[in-house]
Amino acid sequence: MGDRSHQLYTRAIELMPGGVNSPVRAFGAVGGEPFFTARAAGPYLYTEDGERLVDYVSSWGPLILGHAHPAVVAAITEAAANGTSFGTPSRLEVELAARIQAAMPSVERIRMVNSGTEATMSAIRLARAATGRSLIVKFIGCYHGHVDALMVSAGSGMATLGIPSSPGVTEAAVADTVAVAYNDLAGVQALFAQRGPEVAAVIVEPVAGNMGVVPAADGFLAALRQLTTEHGALLIFDEVITGFRVAYGGAQARCDVTPDLTCLGKVIGGGLPVGAYGGRRDLMEMVAPAGKVYQAGTLSGNPLAMAAGIAALDQLVQPGTYGRLEEMASMLADGLAEAARVNGVPLAVNRAWTIFTPFFSPGPVRDFSQAQACSRPSYARYFHGMLDQGVFMAPSQFEAVFISLAHDPALIERTVAASRQVFAQVAESQI
Ligand SMILES: *Cc1c(COP(=O)(O)O)cnc(C)c1O
Repeated sequence: MGDRSHQLYTRAIELMPGGVNSPVRAFGAVGGEPFFTARAAGPYLYTEDGERLVDYVSSWGPLILGHAHPAVVAAITEAAANGTSFGTPSRLEVELAARIQAAMPSVERIRMVNSGTEATMSAIRLARAATGRSLIVKFIGCYHGHVDALMVSAGSGMATLGIPSSPGVTEAAVADTVAVAYNDLAGVQALFAQRGPEVAAVIVEPVAGNMGVVPAADGFLAALRQLTTEHGALLIFDEVITGFRVAYGGAQARCDVTPDLTCLGKVIGGGLPVGAYGGRRDLMEMVAPAGKVYQAGTLSGNPLAMAAGIAALDQLVQPGTYGRLEEMASMLADGLAEAARVNGVPLAVNRAWTIFTPFFSPGPVRDFSQAQACSRPSYARYFHGMLDQGVFMAPSQFEAVFISLAHDPALIERTVAASRQVFAQVAESQI
């Protein structure tokens, strides 16, 4: 790490817990100190130490156009000159909502919030209100933000009561949450057979992105749809990562399953803090002030954030964008798989259209326990080796590679070449 980043980090630690405002930024999973970014443009981050890094983190997903895209910067600049917050409705909220609704037919009504966490928190409140039931079913390894009720890890055994996954989350807060293994349809069926009438909602990432990328198995989402419908429960898709990322209409456009409610964030904010939840009209009309389910936000629908989101979606809606992203994603994913193979490094690459994760694992990764079986030391070596080559991969094995439209095939090829060298180092250290 450079001197300037080190100085800033030293000072940051005196000011903020762990020196950061979100834990994964601290490099805890890979060791070492984080670099500090001074600015970013296109596919690159420029560090405080004067280094240029190819960025495959993309601010953890939002920056699908790359950094400081001219259209987004212009939209934010124009919006800022017109006032940064009104506390009244504005045209921009209508324009972003209309674009999302047009892209996602299941989202008949939408409410903007300020983060993905707020979106999932509000969606489960609505689900409980709409069904008059309490129980929420979630999947182990899916992350839905730091909502108390969703911060559970599995107890022992199948579909047992969850236990709080963080100090400060009370047992009462998770008493009505049950965690099941991802892709474990038999587990969900058993749970519904036992407690079906209590279930308010099943919340699921239609492609899991927070244990690394783990796609839903064939038929899994359709089966969840059927089970929830049969039992009068709601199906909530957390598309905070996948929305406008794997396709313009999100994962639901790709898998042909229609959720009752959808949570959004990341890409729809164009790099500004935005979340949203939406879905069936009859459900969303229960939200205040149309209905009685209270949910509010001083800065919700913020004009800068709306302007950034609109500008981003207007780029993304153009023909060919997702094809280009997918082409680059498959090029990099296949390139890494091949580079690992020739070096004898066990690697399982999970790709869902435009996003993927290279798992340092000899076997397939279909759920959280298989993800956890990966070699974290090998990933850490890969991460630091790539950083030395000027490439910023996620500082954790359990994240996705996020390619942007600012990347290009030549850059991807250079990343594959760098990876080939780094895999050789990883192989050596495994002996
Ligand atoms: C990032 C993420 C969230 C939380 O969003 P924040 O804006 O960080 O609160 C929720 N769900 C999923 C699937 C996410 O990836």
